[in-house]
Amino acid sequence: DYENACKLPTKLVAELTRAGTRGLTAWKQARAESRFEIFRPHLETILELNRRKAMCLNDGKGGEIYDALLDEFEPGARAAQLATLFAELRAGLLPVLDAVRGAAESPDAALWRGAFASADQDRLGRTVLKAMGYDFAAGRLDVSTHPFTPGFNPGDVRITTRYDEGDLKVGLYANMHEGGHALYEMGLPAERDGEPAGAAVSLGIHESQSRLWENQVGRSRPFLAWLQGKLAEVWPDSFGGIDARALYGAANVAAPSLIRIEADELTYNLHIILRMEIERALVAGTIEVDDLPALWREKVREYLDLEVPTDREGVLQDIHWSLGIFGYFPTYALGNLYAAQIFVGARRQLPDLDAQMAAGELGGLLGWLRANVHGPGSLYPADELCVRVTGAPLTTEPFLDHVRAKFGDVYGVAI
Ligand code: ZN
Repeated sequence: DYENACKLPTKLVAELTRAGTRGLTAWKQARAESRFEIFRPHLETILELNRRKAMCLNDGKGGEIYDALLDEFEPGARAAQLATLFAELRAGLLPVLDAVRGAAESPDAALWRGAFASADQDRLGRTVLKAMGYDFAAGRLDVSTHPFTPGFNPGDVRITTRYDEGDLKVGLYANMHEGGHALYEMGLPAERDGEPAGAAVSLGIHESQSRLWENQVGRSRPFLAWLQGKLAEVWPDSFGGIDARALYGAANVAAPSLIRIEADELTYNLHIILRMEIERALVAGTIEVDDLPALWREKVREYLDLEVPTDREGVLQDIHWSLGIFGYFPTYALGNLYAAQIFVGARRQLPDLDAQMAAGELGGLLGWLRANVHGPGSLYPADELCVRVTGAPLTTEPFLDHVRAKFGDVYGVAI
């Protein structure tokens, strides 16, 4: 970290900060009006500064300069390796998507919709977070426009969430997602607080913890069976008599969508793969900022089989590039892959995990994560941590097995 900081000239850091501030303002306006040309000159400046930053960090080492940007968020990751991993992932996802598209009937997300007061959703959120092991004596739950989790030290990790009074799943899964991030921060080694070794190891591992609770636990059949009881306590009319299988289906509806943050578990990674391809090519200089709106449409057509009606729902939807953040997107997909592989590891060592989840007893899982994933902090690089925890380097198979089994089950199709 020290060496990297020393490689960047003060003037460049100042320019990057200024460009990011201006870029954010321009992006907000561009997105509101769905006019890419407002953002374009800013993005050109931001990109050029980031290419200079990457060259400084690369420091004549050769290879791909995008790796130097990636390294800030996922230390040690290399674009060429990720591209191979993501190509496998995409190839594995296509037959699952095809099977889901061809299914005779699909689950219905309508169960989540209705009139649910924020105060009631907050009550449910606290129940779920307590069951996960979130320590309210060392944290808070509040509301913000975009959910996030600032961790100051393991004894002070706060969560913000957002509630949609017409759609219960928004707040429920925001709480579980942010709760997963918070449990990781709470489980970092307190005795190393303030040292590099006491910090989170990578954004991919951080995201693995949010996704593990949100998707591997929160959208599993046993957990949803427990949750149904809790839902019925708060809203007896809506959830008193429903079939647990219907709730499981409602939590696992898969349909390609234009917006990344609204994407389901099955198609989410496709949003990431296309973003990484684009930003990698931008940093390499093989495409121009001018090409982006058309390129975005082309890739969304190819990957998600959707037409992008406006840039607001296309290339302008994410905040990252406006702030000068390149190399961050891949960590979302890495998080999904790590989550699946780590969960397989947990399952191996906690044979009655399903029964525990069905009883709302999640302490065994949290204890295992504390000992194996959270407690080591940054003592091992992410790829080495993965081998220590799961016995193997990261692959796409655990995630693909997971989505084949789950969506095969939910949609009643053989994959
Ligand atoms: Zn997250």
